[in-house]
Amino acid sequence: MDKVALLTKVFEAFASSTKGRYVFMTDMETNISRWSKSCVEEFGLPSERMENAGEIWEEHIHPMDKSRYHQSIVDLFEGKSESHDMVYRARNKNGEYVACTCKGTVIRDDDGKHLYFAGTIDNHGIASEYDSVTALYTKDKLLDTLADLKDERQRYYILFVGMYNFGELNNVYGYEFGNKILRTFAEKLLEFTDDAEVYHAGGTKFALVSTQLNLSEIKEIYSEIVDYCRNSIAVEGVNVTITLGGSCTEVMNFNIDEHTVYSNGILGLDESMKDRHGELCVFGSSNLDKSHERLVLLNALRNSISRDCEGFSIVYQPVVSAQEERLWGAEALVRWQKNPFGRVSPSEFIGWLEDDPLFYDLGLWIARNSMKYWKEKVLSVRPELSLSINVSYTQLERKNFRRDLLEILKELDYPPENLRVELTERCSVLDKNFIRNEIIFLRSQGILTFIDDFGTGFSALELLLFLPVAGIKIDKSFVDGIDEDEKKRIVARAIIECASNIGLKTTIEGVETGDIREILLGFGASHLQGYHYSKPLSIDDFTSHPLFKE
Ligand code: C2E
Ligand code: MG
Ligand code: MG
Repeated sequence: MDKVALLTKVFEAFASSTKGRYVFMTDMETNISRWSKSCVEEFGLPSERMENAGEIWEEHIHPMDKSRYHQSIVDLFEGKSESHDMVYRARNKNGEYVACTCKGTVIRDDDGKHLYFAGTIDNHGIASEYDSVTALYTKDKLLDTLADLKDERQRYYILFVGMYNFGELNNVYGYEFGNKILRTFAEKLLEFTDDAEVYHAGGTKFALVSTQLNLSEIKEIYSEIVDYCRNSIAVEGVNVTITLGGSCTEVMNFNIDEHTVYSNGILGLDESMKDRHGELCVFGSSNLDKSHERLVLLNALRNSISRDCEGFSIVYQPVVSAQEERLWGAEALVRWQKNPFGRVSPSEFIGWLEDDPLFYDLGLWIARNSMKYWKEKVLSVRPELSLSINVSYTQLERKNFRRDLLEILKELDYPPENLRVELTERCSVLDKNFIRNEIIFLRSQGILTFIDDFGTGFSALELLLFLPVAGIKIDKSFVDGIDEDEKKRIVARAIIECASNIGLKTTIEGVETGDIREILLGFGASHLQGYHYSKPLSIDDFTSHPLFKE
C-alpha cells in the first residue's frame, strides 16, 4: 500500500470514530484537505475534499473569534507554530453557533518539510453562553463576568448601548427583520474594539466590558457607534436608522453586586435617551458620589426584595365616581422605607427596577399582599369595591404571569371581579397582539384592564380601538396647570369625550385641589382620583376614612 492510500485508511478509521468529533487533514503543499463527512453535513461545507478549506471554514467562524482563528492558521502555514488548539464558535447549517474545540498538529517529513496539517474538531453543541439572535454572549454570561470581576477586585468600565426606536422598526419591518437588524448591529459592535468583551444585555440593549480601556477611549467608541447608526445601517438592502442611548459606569466598589451594576447601567440608558437625546450618561469620577449613592440604594432595594420584601408596604388611594363623588375603589401603590435612606418614592425606584429579574417577585408580593388586606378589611364590609393594581410590561411579558396571578387569586380565594389591572403606557413597547391577548385573557377571568398614564408618551387613540380595555387613566401631568391653560382643557376634554363615546371608563388622576376639581367635573370623566379626595392611605386609615363610611 502506498503512503497516500495508507493515510486515507487511517483518516477513515478516525473520521467515523465518534459522533460530534470531526477529523481533518490538509496537504500543506497543495492546500487540499479532506474533512469528515459528518462535519461537511453538519456545517453545510461544499464537500469532503476541499481546496483552501481554511478559508472556507473561516467563513463559518463567529466574527468575535475570527481574527484569533485566522492568525493561528497563518502562523501554522508560515511555520511560526506547530500546533493549533483553540475554542471558537462556528455556524452550523441552521445558522446556529456551536462551540468547538479544534486541535491540530503539523506533520513533517524526515527533512523537516511541512507535509500535513491534521487534527480534530469537537462539537460541543449549541453554545448556551451565546445568544441565538445576535451570537454575542448572553446577559447571564454578562452577569457571571461582572461577578468574577468583583471577586477578583478588578476595576473596569461597562458601556451600555441601547436602541430606542426598535419598537417602530419591528412594527414597520416585522420581527424577523428586526432580528436581522440586531444581528447586524451586534456584528458591527465587535469591530469597534478588541479591548472589550461584547454582550447582548437583553432586548435591544448591549454591553461592552473592559478592564483595559480608559474613559476617553470609551467615549470615543460610543461616539463612533452613534455615528455608524446615524448614517443608517444597511440590512438586506434596506437602510434603517437607529436611535441610540448610552451609559458608562466605572466600577471600583467591590461590595456592590453584579445586578446592581447592571441596573445602574440600564438606568443610565434611560436617562441618556429621555433627558439627553442619546448623549452618553457617564458615572465616573466627577459624579461618582451621585452614581455611587444610587448604586448603594439600588443594592439596598434589591436586598430588601430578596429578604421577603422587607421594608416594602402598600397604600391605597381612593378613586371616586365623578357624578356623585362616592367611593368606587382604590389603587394599590407600593412604598419603600429603610434606614438610612428614609422613604423612597416608587416613581423613582420602579423605573430602576423594572428590568431587574427581582422586580417580578416584588410585583407578585404587591399583588398578593394588597389583595389579601383588601379582601380581609374592605370586601368584608363593602363587597362592591374593587382594587386596582399596577402592572409593568416586564411583569406582563413573563410567561408565568398568568399562572402566578391566578394562583394568588386562588390561594386568597379573591373574587376576580374585584380586581383591576392598570397597564402603564410603557407597555406599548410590547407587541400589540401580545398585549391584546393578555387583556383578553384577564377579561376571560373577570379582571378588567385600564391603560394608566394616558396622555404621556406615545398614547395613540388608535390603540384604544385595538385593545379591549375597560378604560383609561388620564395622567396627572395632563391636568397640571389646566386652570391656566385653555389648550390643555380642550385636549383633555376631547380625549375624555372620545374615550367615553367608545364606551370606555375615564379616570382623571391627580385631582389635587378644589379648583381643579371644579374645572374637571364638567369634563364628562367617569371617575376621579387625587389628593383633593384623599392621599394614598394605609389599609386601616382607608377603612376609617369618611369616604369608606358612607
Ligand atoms: P400611577 O400608577 O400613575 O399612580 C399615581 C401616582 O400619582 C401615585 O404616585 C399617587 O400617589 C400620585 N398621586 C395621586 N393623586 C395625586 C395628587 O393629587 N397630586 C400628586 N402630586 N400626586 C398624586 P406614587 O405612589 O408615587 O406612584 C408613582 C408611580 O409608580 C405610579 O404611577 C406607578 O406607575 C408606579 N407604581 C406605584 N406602585 C406600583 C406598583 O405596585 N407596581 C408597579 N408596577 N408600579 C407602581
Ligand atoms: Mg396606576
Ligand atoms: Mg397613572
